[in-house]
Amino acid sequence: MTQIDYTYKIERTCTTCGHTDELIVTKREAAFELFSVSNALGKTCKNCSSLSFSTSYPRPDLDFDLLKEWATNVDLRLMPQDEELLLADEKYLDIILRVLDTISIPDRKRNLLMDALCIIVYDNTIDDNSLHHEQLKARVIKELKKRKDLLKMADGWIMDYIKNVVYPQLDLTI
Ligand SMILES: [Zn+2]
Repeated sequence: MTQIDYTYKIERTCTTCGHTDELIVTKREAAFELFSVSNALGKTCKNCSSLSFSTSYPRPDLDFDLLKEWATNVDLRLMPQDEELLLADEKYLDIILRVLDTISIPDRKRNLLMDALCIIVYDNTIDDNSLHHEQLKARVIKELKKRKDLLKMADGWIMDYIKNVVYPQLDLTI
């Protein structure tokens, strides 16, 4: 289990008077957005009763346990939409592959993870041609080729502009 650590500070600043309130949550709560700022801090500014705020907090890095929990629970979200963009990050590559290979997960989550792998290839194809990008892209292409069956199942989830760049590099026919 993920260790409980109340270390994520959410700051809500009133856009009218600048008053700031804080909410402390766990890494898990922060990762899955399992908190309600207005429930915890009230709907209005304690200083001026304004309803207008800006809220910011550091998004925690996922570890294997958190990704596994997300992947096996259809109700958990990393963000309201575009979760695959958040997951399409080199720092998550190893744990994504580990989840895909070792855990039985719902189709939706598996498709999102396959989509994220394609986005890593896409990003590293169009960004630039540094050696680092080339090596990362080559590795993810190799991993995708090993999992063509999973990719075919995820096909409907992947945007065409991603497919157009990525599929030719996989020798993939759907
Ligand atoms: Zn205020």
